[in-house]
Amino acid sequence: MEIRILGAHNVESANTRLTSVLVDGVLAVDAGALTSSLTFAEQEKVGSILLTHCHYDHVRDVAAIALNYTYFRKAIKVYAQASTLEALLKNILNNVIYPNFTERPSEKPSLKFYPLELYKVTDVDGYNVMALPEKHAVPAVGYQITSKEGRSFFYSGDTGPGLSSCWAHISPQLLIIDVTMPNGLEEHAIPAGHLTPRLLGEELAQFKKVKGYLPPVVVIHLATLFEDQIREETEQLAKELGTKITIGHEGMKLKV
Ligand SMILES: [Zn+2]
Ligand SMILES: [Zn+2]
Repeated sequence: MEIRILGAHNVESANTRLTSVLVDGVLAVDAGALTSSLTFAEQEKVGSILLTHCHYDHVRDVAAIALNYTYFRKAIKVYAQASTLEALLKNILNNVIYPNFTERPSEKPSLKFYPLELYKVTDVDGYNVMALPEKHAVPAVGYQITSKEGRSFFYSGDTGPGLSSCWAHISPQLLIIDVTMPNGLEEHAIPAGHLTPRLLGEELAQFKKVKGYLPPVVVIHLATLFEDQIREETEQLAKELGTKITIGHEGMKLKV
């Protein structure tokens, strides 16, 4: 599998994009940067989107790509927990902010919604996808995505402490995890449902204890203002744990 990080931040600017990754050019996870990062030809190849939760920085481009798909005269599939899909329909695709593209264009709607159940493996365009519950301000999931060849990675989406409840269910070769704030802001990170490098360290220590190994880690959803500090703190953590922890960036390509 080739994983391309389209957006590695929780803030957007000319140099940063909102959270989104793309697997083999065809399967998107979160939709913070799908239209802003991809050409029309690349967008047309994306068959499905997995959403972790309903926050704007993760769902925004569902609406944007849905409009583009009306011109492609195709449907794009969106998988998420039922509550996430309902929140999208109620608050964005509500025929006020934007059209309900699950019903429009009437002859061929450009969105198809599929609710996912926790812990159940679903075939999404040939990938085995499992949604696992996360601790966040709204209902949220992370995903283990496994290719036909049996290679897999785990993408946390936004999460606070408590990831260790996922570890028994998965065996990924790569972890892509939310680290939004530096250690000094832990008291803000926990109630908001995010990790700091120190909190990540606790989750990774649990991973090693439960699984007996530790795969490479890429951290994303960075708050740009604190990125240098997060980099220093994750470098220190990587030394302590004896594993590779990399700061994600837009355009980064990972092989699993
Ligand atoms: Zn969030
Ligand atoms: Zn977010």
